Formats: sequence, structure tokens, C-alpha cells
Amino acid sequence: MKKLELHWKIIIGMIAGVGIGFLAVSLGLQQWVENWIKPFGTIFINLLKLVAVPLIIVSLIKGIAELQDISKLSRMGGRTLIIYVFTTVIAVSIGLLVVNIFKPGNRINEQTRQELLDNFGTDAGAKITMAAEQKGQGPLQALVDIVPDNIFSSMTDNRNMLQVIFFVVLLGIGLILIDKEKAKPVIAFIDGLNEVILKIIDLIMLAAPIGVLALLASLVVESPSLDLFKALLSYAICVIIGLSIMIFGFYPLFVRFFTGKSARFFFKGIAPAQLVAFSTSSSAATLPVTMERVTEHLGVDDEVSSFVLPIGATVNMDGTSLYQGVAAVFIAQAFNMDLTLMDQLTIILTATLASIGSAAVPSAGMIMLVIVLGSVGIPEAGLALIFAVDRPLDMLRTVVNITGDSSVSMVVAKSLNLLGEPKVKEWDENYKK
Ligand code: ASP
Repeated sequence: MKKLELHWKIIIGMIAGVGIGFLAVSLGLQQWVENWIKPFGTIFINLLKLVAVPLIIVSLIKGIAELQDISKLSRMGGRTLIIYVFTTVIAVSIGLLVVNIFKPGNRINEQTRQELLDNFGTDAGAKITMAAEQKGQGPLQALVDIVPDNIFSSMTDNRNMLQVIFFVVLLGIGLILIDKEKAKPVIAFIDGLNEVILKIIDLIMLAAPIGVLALLASLVVESPSLDLFKALLSYAICVIIGLSIMIFGFYPLFVRFFTGKSARFFFKGIAPAQLVAFSTSSSAATLPVTMERVTEHLGVDDEVSSFVLPIGATVNMDGTSLYQGVAAVFIAQAFNMDLTLMDQLTIILTATLASIGSAAVPSAGMIMLVIVLGSVGIPEAGLALIFAVDRPLDMLRTVVNITGDSSVSMVVAKSLNLLGEPKVKEWDENYKK
């Protein structure tokens, strides 16, 4: 019998998880799920996060050292960043288009608005405080934050990924510049370590179906009341329409146009990473899987994926920027505020920057949304309006975030002649093109 492919196993895990969640709610067994099922989800996310930092370190050093000269590095870096900004701006613009057409905020009546503000005011307040801490620090603080003063403390927090990347890029550059004979053993060691970590990821992924089952079951039992969900349905649908346009329209065309590969090839290769992103709501936690899928199944050379993906997981968040655009306009509509064209252009700019600044962890996009709201004078308390549906939307935007990173890695690889055939041997011939 043909072995069931990983993404099918994960999908079965997800469906079972949602089923178990609803069953537990109807039987009043929420606490049981919290005690006996949720821990397996937490263990799965922990395992992924555990390998994320070591993976970034070894793969990025290896990637840069293999480039062998600095001009190649700056070529790849420049190209990557330009394409990342381009896809992000496209995403926010699509979001704004959708929300301006459907105007979901106009459907929120006074009573629902008050109910949402009352229910989620405190939760939203916590996020606003977190954002204020980031905001009140001067215009160049974001730049200062990239340069760590102690690499070990940076490595202890997945939010500091950009600092780790900065240090590792320096190491890689150092390795390129020193005597080749001296660099050789260091690179060989890193190379071996890289293989070990990739093997560990294979092992962790064996547990993925169980991990996502546990994550989704606990999510269902922790969800807020369905009534508030319904009030926000038209807003959620706008975000989903925008995200779907990116996933099913923009990326397949983008990949097809620049690499000649079909949508089927792309999705088949990346599906397990998308499912993990959906279940964990974290691009950082998903990074190990994205990395493995892109190199082994989409044919992107290590040199490219090990550079483009860790940076992408941290700075390229198309789904997040799209969501921030929709959410900002939705809140403005709900408060009966009129936004001028200039306001909307400001939203494109700030949502692009805010998504770059969002950490690759659950609900980070919502914290940075405060900055987008502030830029055009929308009340920050409006965050409470969208709280109830944020988690499911976070799951979906994280899928878009990692899909964006993967598509860009293919395009960059192609442009440098580093896009080959998938490495996996059992790859079905039908999907090669
Ligand atoms: N959870 C998202 C991610 O990790 C960030 C966000 O909250 O939008 O990609």
C-alpha cells in the first residue's frame, strides 16, 4: 500500500483535533483537554522552536560561507529585500482594496461595538501597552534593536531572531574573508551540524499529526463565544478573501512567471509547512519545516534557502501586513471615521513597516497594528473590536507569511541559477513541472 503522505496525515490530525475539541465542549470536558491533550501541542511547538535558533545559526553561516565572495552576498541580499518589500506592498494594497469594497465596519451597530469593547477592552489594553513600549523609543530604535550586545541573551528569545541573524551574517562574512585553509574546518563542522539538525527536524515532523491534533483540540475548547464571532464575520471574511487572493492568485502567478513551476508543484511541496504554520500561528516555529520543504521538495539550493528563509520568517509577512490594512480600515469604519486617500497610503507604508517589525510569533501582528492605527489617528481601543476573531485569522495569515517566503526563495534561486530539481527521491514524476 502506498504510504500516506505527510500533509494528509497532518490534515487528518487537524480534523481529529477539531472533532475532539467540539466533542469535549459538548460533554463539558474542556478541562480534560487542557490537562491531557494540550500539553502534547505545547511539546510539539517547543520542539520546533528548540531547533529554530540552532537551525538559523548553522544554515545561515553555511549559506553565507558557501557564497565565497561578498559581492555575491550583497547581490542576493539586495534582491531578496527588494522582492520582500514588493510582495508586502502588494499584500497590503489587496487588503485595502477588499475592505474598501465590502466595508465590513459599517455593519457593526452601536450595541455590538459596545459589547466588544466591554468584553475585550482589557486584553486589548495589554497589547496596546506592549506596543507603546516599542513605540516610545525614537525613530532609530528599530535599527539599534537589530544589533545585540550579547548574543547569548538574544538567542534565548525567539523574538530576537533579527539580532541572531545579524550576528550570524557577521560570522559568515568573517569566514569568507579569512584564509580559506583556516575557514575550511569551521565550515565542515557547521555543514555536519546542519545535516544533524535537518535530521532532527525529520524526526520531529513524525510527531506533527499528533502535535496539530493537540493544538487544534485545545484551541477549540478555548475559543470565545460564537455570538461575538458572528458579529465579526464580515470583517473576518474580508481578511480571508484578501489572504486567499495572495495564496491562490498572486503566489502561483508569481512563481509561474519567474520560475516556470506550476501551482501544483509549489503547493504540493510546501503544503506540510503551511499546515504547521496554520496550527502553530508562528512563522518562527514553522521555519525548520519551511526550510526542509523548500530545499528538499521545491529544489531551492541550500545557499539561497538558508539565507532567504530565516530573514523572510522575520521580516517578510505579507499575510500580517494585509491583515493590518484590513483591520485598520475596519476599525475606522466601525468608529464612523472617514479615511482619506492620504490616510490609506499612510496605512500601506506603516503596515509594511509594522509587518517587518512584527516578531514571527502568535498575535505579534496585532501588537504592531497599534502603530498602524496611531499613524492615521484611529483609536487604539479599537483593537478590542477585532480580538474575538484574531486567533483564527492569525493562523491563516501565518500560512500566507510562510508561503510568501517560500515563493520568494524560489524566485531568488531562479534568478541566481540555483533552482534545481527536488532532492527527494520518491518524488512523483507527475509533479516535477
Ligand atoms: N503569527 C504571525 C507569524 O508568526 C505574525 C502575526 O501575528 O501576524 O507569522
